[in-house]
Amino acid sequence: MLARVFSAAIQGVEAIQVEIEVNAGSGDPAIVLVGLPDAAVRESKDRVTTAIANSGFRWPRSRTTVNLAPADLKKEGPSFDLPIAVGMIAVAEGADMPRLGRCLMAGELSLNGEVRSIKGVLPIAIEARRRRKKAVIVPKANVREAAVVEGIEVYGVSNLRETFEFLARQRELPFSTEVFDFTQNGSEELDFAEVKGQHLVKRAIEVAVAGNHALLLIGPPGSGKSMLSKRIATIMPPMSIEEAIETTKIHSICGLLDDGNFFCTHRPFRAPHHTISDVGLIGGSTNPTPGEISLAHNGVLFLDELPEFKRSTLEVLRQPLEDRKVTVSRAAGTMTFPANVMLVAAMNPCACGYFGDPKRECRCSPKQVENYRNRVSGPLLDRIDIHVEAPAVEYKELSSDERAEASQAIRERVLGARKLQHERFAGKPKCHANAEMSHGLLKTHCKLDSEGKELLRHAMEELHLSARAYDRILKVSRTIADLAASPTICPPHLLEAIQYRTLDRNFWH
Ligand SMILES: [Zn+2]
Repeated sequence: MLARVFSAAIQGVEAIQVEIEVNAGSGDPAIVLVGLPDAAVRESKDRVTTAIANSGFRWPRSRTTVNLAPADLKKEGPSFDLPIAVGMIAVAEGADMPRLGRCLMAGELSLNGEVRSIKGVLPIAIEARRRRKKAVIVPKANVREAAVVEGIEVYGVSNLRETFEFLARQRELPFSTEVFDFTQNGSEELDFAEVKGQHLVKRAIEVAVAGNHALLLIGPPGSGKSMLSKRIATIMPPMSIEEAIETTKIHSICGLLDDGNFFCTHRPFRAPHHTISDVGLIGGSTNPTPGEISLAHNGVLFLDELPEFKRSTLEVLRQPLEDRKVTVSRAAGTMTFPANVMLVAAMNPCACGYFGDPKRECRCSPKQVENYRNRVSGPLLDRIDIHVEAPAVEYKELSSDERAEASQAIRERVLGARKLQHERFAGKPKCHANAEMSHGLLKTHCKLDSEGKELLRHAMEELHLSARAYDRILKVSRTIADLAASPTICPPHLLEAIQYRTLDRNFWH
């Protein structure tokens, strides 16, 4: 007898349907797994047979072959336990399961037959819908994650017997009819209204978000660099449903979702520690899981204490930041994880932290200050358009009752500037924002009049600005002009953009 059960394997951020054939042949009782299963899938043999016995079913008395197809697709993890067990019960009991062919299922089994939660339920549900299945059966703990997908019945199961009885039409299960209301999913917890003072830094953040520019905050401990950074996502454009699904898929694969947090409706903020490994940051190849840069997809990747990161680690970030995706090479082919992030970094002005602070004395020598700053120079710094100093907050600002401007108001201005960029770059699929302008686009859209040219030339000389700063200043001044709804870049826009090149100025000499 042959039984056929549908499940799915995770590849990158997608799930691909896997057909599990179970065949009871002749010969001594044994179970043979074929079709490129990894160690975790092979181990499922023992879990599955024990779970079957403990759920009160017979298990195959003869040689049983379990084939996972397509064979060239690597199957990983324990999520095939449930479909394999169902297939084995079907052949051992000779049971009729009329619902089996129209369902796709995944779940890990415990030894007593309970169905445990798994990773990657959202992409699995998406694949089930794509394959026009009527229903997807998932662990009860993952049901809300799957129910985000419309147009398919989602059933949460808690044990093997329940699953069998449902498939055999011996019992009914409620299916999740919860239509997910994307717009009503809570409010942002953080808001710029809570951040007093720091007007110049907040303005620089607004400019950075408006043009999608990478940002570096330089300030002493306690200047609120990470408090400010955590709120950056609150002024970015709201996520579209497509962006939210993309981001949620990545979090689903990493097993970061639960019943209370099953869908990413807010842009993510990820702040990996400077001791993070390269694999942790950009993703791994042996066990292909997305790294922090992909978990931050469509949101903010925050690197606090930038000079403390290993140079090699910053080096591996370069290509993914440029490509907006991570490509991982494996024996079975390459795999891609999306990584479209806004890069925000922060650092102290010097090793002791107090260079330039009016109240506390810096203990570093000029040479030490320079060495400290040189640790972040190079290819990654080249990609950061805006550097801004975050000074220590004055006591009178902290104690004032004045409520700062709310994130929503700032976001309105950002959206206005983004709309202009959207129109500007229509028909340019590789460029969505000013920060992404190629040299050619820069020449077209950042023309200066003679006054502007003279001003920039003067600033380059006076402030010892580097050549690489030139293009950056043009891009950022384009964004500042967009925020002012000005078709041309005017001298005040240029002057503001020049301010945002702190690390290019040799002002400690
Ligand atoms: Zn110092």
